[in-house]
Amino acid sequence: MNADSPDSPANTSPATFGAPLQIVAMSDTDRELFTREIGRPPRGVIGVAYRCDHGVPAVVQTAPRLEDGTPFPTMYYLCCSVLNSAVSRMESDGVMAVMTQRLAEDEELAAGYRRAHESYLATRNALGDLGIGVTAGGMPDRVKCLHVLVAHSLAVGRGVNPLGDEAVEALGEYFRGDRPCARLV
Ligand SMILES: [Zn+2]
Repeated sequence: MNADSPDSPANTSPATFGAPLQIVAMSDTDRELFTREIGRPPRGVIGVAYRCDHGVPAVVQTAPRLEDGTPFPTMYYLCCSVLNSAVSRMESDGVMAVMTQRLAEDEELAAGYRRAHESYLATRNALGDLGIGVTAGGMPDRVKCLHVLVAHSLAVGRGVNPLGDEAVEALGEYFRGDRPCARLV
């Protein structure tokens, strides 16, 4: 749980389309940390969308095209290596197949997941329209990458991507006994 939660007017409106996304420009230290975590320098990064307890830029927002023009439809990219490993363990546990099955059976969940896809696409199109309706992670009707969904939820906050939110909430048991370094606010 959070140590404290000051009465913030920032949380008065429900998180919906577009979300309370806050992007902070990368510092030189962020670039060094990113390179250490990912093994290569950042490319096409607009800024940091979320910092985890390790102090690294755990989710960055990337431009729809890299500097050389290559389309890069994954807008939120998960960078903390510890967090990435935990999400990978979650994927190995078969969580994605279960989620995809639930999407086929639960209309409300499916509708929420489709709205998450539309929100993702609208935000990305505002940065640069790739002319495609594809987003990432299997959205809008499948779950193919939990890293994408976790990154989305951490970037935009609770209430936008129902399956991303679920994945973040369930991550605790995948940190091998360590405290989870990322949580929804
Ligand atoms: Zn972390």
